[in-house]
Amino acid sequence: MGVDVVPVALGDRAYEVRIGAGLIDRAGAEIAPLLRRKKVAVITDETVASLHLLRLAEAFSAQGITMTALSLPPGEATKGWPQFARSVEWLLDSQVERRDVVVAFGGGVVGDLVGFASAVLRRGVRFVQIPTTLLSQVDSSVGGKTGINTAQGKNLVGAFHQPSLVLADIDVLDTLPARDFLAGYGEVVKYGLLGDAAFFDWLEVNGPSLRRDAGLRQHAVVRSVQMKAEIVARDEHEEGDRALLNLGHTFCHALEKATGYSDRLLHGEGVAIGCALAFELSQRLGLCAQEAPSRVRAHLKAMGTKVDIADIPGDLPGAEALLGLMAQDKKVIDGTLRFILARGIGQAFVTSEVPGEMVKSLLVEALR
Ligand code: NAD
Ligand code: MG
Repeated sequence: MGVDVVPVALGDRAYEVRIGAGLIDRAGAEIAPLLRRKKVAVITDETVASLHLLRLAEAFSAQGITMTALSLPPGEATKGWPQFARSVEWLLDSQVERRDVVVAFGGGVVGDLVGFASAVLRRGVRFVQIPTTLLSQVDSSVGGKTGINTAQGKNLVGAFHQPSLVLADIDVLDTLPARDFLAGYGEVVKYGLLGDAAFFDWLEVNGPSLRRDAGLRQHAVVRSVQMKAEIVARDEHEEGDRALLNLGHTFCHALEKATGYSDRLLHGEGVAIGCALAFELSQRLGLCAQEAPSRVRAHLKAMGTKVDIADIPGDLPGAEALLGLMAQDKKVIDGTLRFILARGIGQAFVTSEVPGEMVKSLLVEALR
């Protein structure tokens, strides 16, 4: 099993996503060609550092590259102003210069924060993503959306800043807790559902084995990244098609807000529930056959992830309140709810013609 390379075709900002086993141990050699001097600054989180930073340090040292590292506390709360300021100042203190390379080593939290820090440091330095969660390998490390959360909401401050290289080590996922793995799987399934029915067929058969089988896992990551790369290359700044990547996300964002971005619901779990709801809604609007939402639900259930709103522990606000939260979503343009719906598995499209009443009755039933 070798390394798969997925190009992200963005002209002078083009880069490669390299996906394979053991890439962390080869990171020094992979990154060396980008360096103008033999020095890198790595930002990670404490959990990833304790499990994997030594290997990364050895990989750089084997190439004669000096590595300095900063470990941030793990968790979504890190993705805000205080740790952002700390990271930027640490990079300046470490004398990272305009031509140097910063490495983001961790999940989506580290990737988003470090990407944004790199975007603004000295008006922009290059950075490399080494994503260590399934979610970050298939989604957040590719596409150049970076940023932090503020008191006003999630991801409200940030920049488009593409990485210079992404190294997705399939083996690093071995230490990922089962729940985080399944949450990342929510985004994997999303790719099949939005644009590749054959991939969804493949996931129905192989999804349950991904956690144990590195070969299957690599294929799932490669196919997901290919789809993301293709969409991002078509529409880097989300003026059109990139919105397809938000399948399931309008529902998800409302549910995340309703649960206060807490441990009650991980983002990928919300995406899985949101995809099931989006297909249910599509069926009710007469866009697709009943078979489609049934298959989506059956597969998510077989994987053991959350499928229904009822799978979220604790109390939730009513349908009206959830609808209100959906309307606040950033995909609302001029007050009409924008949805990603589907004509079948692998056939998603963007629409703003969704009657609020229809969504509300779906939510009323889902909350029962
Ligand atoms: P995360 O970065 O918080 O990682 C989840 C947990 O797993 C953390 O506790 C982390 O310490 C731990 N961890 C990471 N790698 C590990 C490993 N190999 N072994 C054991 N533990 C490990 O969360 P995430 O799910 O990776 O990312 C979520 C973030 O990504 C959110 O902030 C979301 O907004 C963002 N995101 C961004 C984009 C984008 O396009 N930029 C897309 C999707 C999500
Ligand atoms: Mg997402």
